[in-house]
Amino acid sequence: MQIRDRVISGGQSTSNGHSNGISNGVANGTTHSKTMKPVASWGRAWSVDTKTVLGCLFLLTLCPLMPIFFNDACTNHECSLKKTLLNWTFKGPPFAHFANRVWSSLYPTMLLYLTWITGQVVLALLPDIVHHIFPSYVGGIRMGAVTPAGHSIKYRINGLQAWLITHFAWFLNAFYLHWFSPAMLFRLWGPLLVVVNILAYSLSFFVYIKGIFFPNHPDDCKQSGSAIYDFVMGIEFNPRVGLFDFKLFFNGRPGIVGWTIINLSYAWYQLETYGFVSDSMILLNILQAIYVLDFFWNEAWYLKTIDICHDHFGWMLAWGDLVWLPYMYTLQGFYLAHNPVILGPEKSISILVLGLLGYVIFRTCNAQKDRFRAKKDNCLIWGKRPNYIKCVFTSSDGKQHDSTLLYSGCWGIARHLNYTGDLMGSLAYCLCCGTDHLLPYFYFVFILMLLVHRVYRDEHRCSAKYGTYWDEYTRRVPYRLIPFIY
Ligand code: NDP
Repeated sequence: MQIRDRVISGGQSTSNGHSNGISNGVANGTTHSKTMKPVASWGRAWSVDTKTVLGCLFLLTLCPLMPIFFNDACTNHECSLKKTLLNWTFKGPPFAHFANRVWSSLYPTMLLYLTWITGQVVLALLPDIVHHIFPSYVGGIRMGAVTPAGHSIKYRINGLQAWLITHFAWFLNAFYLHWFSPAMLFRLWGPLLVVVNILAYSLSFFVYIKGIFFPNHPDDCKQSGSAIYDFVMGIEFNPRVGLFDFKLFFNGRPGIVGWTIINLSYAWYQLETYGFVSDSMILLNILQAIYVLDFFWNEAWYLKTIDICHDHFGWMLAWGDLVWLPYMYTLQGFYLAHNPVILGPEKSISILVLGLLGYVIFRTCNAQKDRFRAKKDNCLIWGKRPNYIKCVFTSSDGKQHDSTLLYSGCWGIARHLNYTGDLMGSLAYCLCCGTDHLLPYFYFVFILMLLVHRVYRDEHRCSAKYGTYWDEYTRRVPYRLIPFIY
């Protein structure tokens, strides 16, 4: 299969490296210029250097060790990073111990995971199946953003229903059916790590091979020349088999639906073991449930985020969604299951306020952009007509597309204030665990690194896509995350 090597054009620097005059290309939502010819490329890199490939190798080796490390820390070393590190340094990672645990509970672990993943696949495909049987049923069809090659992809979304049905089933079992212990997930957490890794690596190899030999949209595939980089970052943009969309499913379903179920399982374990559920565990469950529910309530918005619009589907997303997210994003609950911290009313209220404030900032920013992109001048941002820059960009099929960059409301305060809100929420989750141990704070450090890196990644892409329009936007909104600081 030959991957078409058509350069995607977007920004509008001239060939001599000078930007075209922007003055008449930018207006506060009123003027529109098509005089600038975009030539720069956007979308993912075509070629990579040795440093990037070494970085990928580093990720492939280090990342899978981290969930094992944190699991071992709380299971065997009182959640102490120092003790675990010393143990690993002198005795090595406890692979044999893990293998024994897997072997002794192989059957329930496999059964649990297969039931889980099959159930989530069925729930995700349900609207398509119903539509197939009753063509008059349309379901929640939404369009994704235009891809670099100019395709518009249709999605049928039903995340909220899937989340509600899954949680209903969990509560039904916990309070009425009693088919299995609601804390079973916690008890099988170590062995499950092996099972999810097997699935994640199999999936990564599958999409790698699929990307090379039978992609859905060859003109949206990217091969960099490095097999390692392509394996990690993905070749195909939107791999699908029949109606099944890999990126939307794995990014959104098993991990994120699972997030709140995992937290509930930790809370149940506390109840079974200590006879009570700590205020910190309740607070953590509430704050993270708000975040997860928001995700599904606004699933159409998720189709317009970087994950879906710009990332190719490879090991990074497959392994990240199946292993990293459920294990590392729920670290605070795992810690609290072993250490039921009692916060008391003052601390609980302060953390709740921080978490809710972060959430309000996060949601307001995302909603403003979403509403504005859908309605343009026909919406109000903080009671006023939006200010924005009209832009043009070109996809690799040579077609020009119009776009807009908002600079009022949250988007006039900082270019990524939604990330700032997310960071405040992340800190609140960690604070639920008190300050005795560093381990639960790993999440905040990780999200900080991820989002700061994302700021640069996104701005690099937007600059290539929009060229001088983007320069104008950064001139009008000079701060990235925190006004007057950064
Ligand atoms: P954004 O929702 O900020 O989307 C960035 C895109 O929005 C840009 O690529 C550009 O896309 C468009 N855009 C940028 N500036 C403007 C503007 N001024 N006006 C209009 N459109 C603009 O980023 P993400 O997709 O990364 O994140 C979405 C949310 O998810 C964030 O709130 C983030 O905090 C959260 N998140 C959470 C993670 C977690 O693990 N907890 C991980 C990643 C994200 P275009 O090409 O369409 O112009």
